[in-house]
Amino acid sequence: MEELKEALSAQAQDLGANLFGVADLTADTQWIRENYGDLCASFPRAISVAIFFPREIIQEQAIGPTRSYSYFYSAINRQLDLIGFRLSNMLQQKGFRSYPVPTSDYRQSRLAPGLQEQVASKGPEGLEKISTELMGMFSHRFAASHAGLGWIGKSCHLINPEVGPRLRLTTILTDAPLLPDQPLANRCGSCTRCRDACPVHAIQGVPFSPGDAPSVRFDKETCDHFLEEMASVFGKHTCAKCLAACPWGSK
Ligand code: SF4
Ligand code: SF4
Repeated sequence: MEELKEALSAQAQDLGANLFGVADLTADTQWIRENYGDLCASFPRAISVAIFFPREIIQEQAIGPTRSYSYFYSAINRQLDLIGFRLSNMLQQKGFRSYPVPTSDYRQSRLAPGLQEQVASKGPEGLEKISTELMGMFSHRFAASHAGLGWIGKSCHLINPEVGPRLRLTTILTDAPLLPDQPLANRCGSCTRCRDACPVHAIQGVPFSPGDAPSVRFDKETCDHFLEEMASVFGKHTCAKCLAACPWGSK
């Protein structure tokens, strides 16, 4: 299995990945089932892959916003999706189950069983529009922190010792029994720079603790509202001041 892990890592690097790690999900199966459903909970491993964001583009956000940030945000996501499906195909060809989690895709928080049959029989006009919370299919940060790529910072971003939060992530869920990597210790310490940099005070400055809801650290609604306002005047949902402020990897 070491050989397969090395081949996957080499393929990811050939396609531009900077970091590669494997998370053992078996201790968190119940939590994953409750938050992301049975399909995600059926995989014992997650491969986590990161591409570094160009540092200068993130640092510009301290006085931004810039269109370069939005442009490379999308470009890096597309490259990560390419890596995700290439690694997933490799695993599948070796006889394993694998699921490349979309890099940036928000979906309804529950499945709609039987919906296709209902639409087919009644027609779309006859059905109420489904209204549920939008969320990612699986947490890339959860996978990355368990795979040893970094720790969850007070900003809720994944913080890597080399580049801080200046990276983007993707995840491939699999049942291949790859050797897992070890998580890193949290190194935020007494730092509160992300909290201090946030223009709308969405970050509370509370250290990550696995038992806490993310809302203890981060007011998502306030951040989202600010990004909507940015989009209305700038055309892009762009801020990232909390990324630029992090001392890890800032130079
Ligand atoms: S993206 Fe901007 S508004 Fe949102 S938490 Fe970071 S600094 Fe605050
Ligand atoms: S700015 Fe400081 S507190 Fe915030 S994530 Fe980075 S190291 Fe942690």
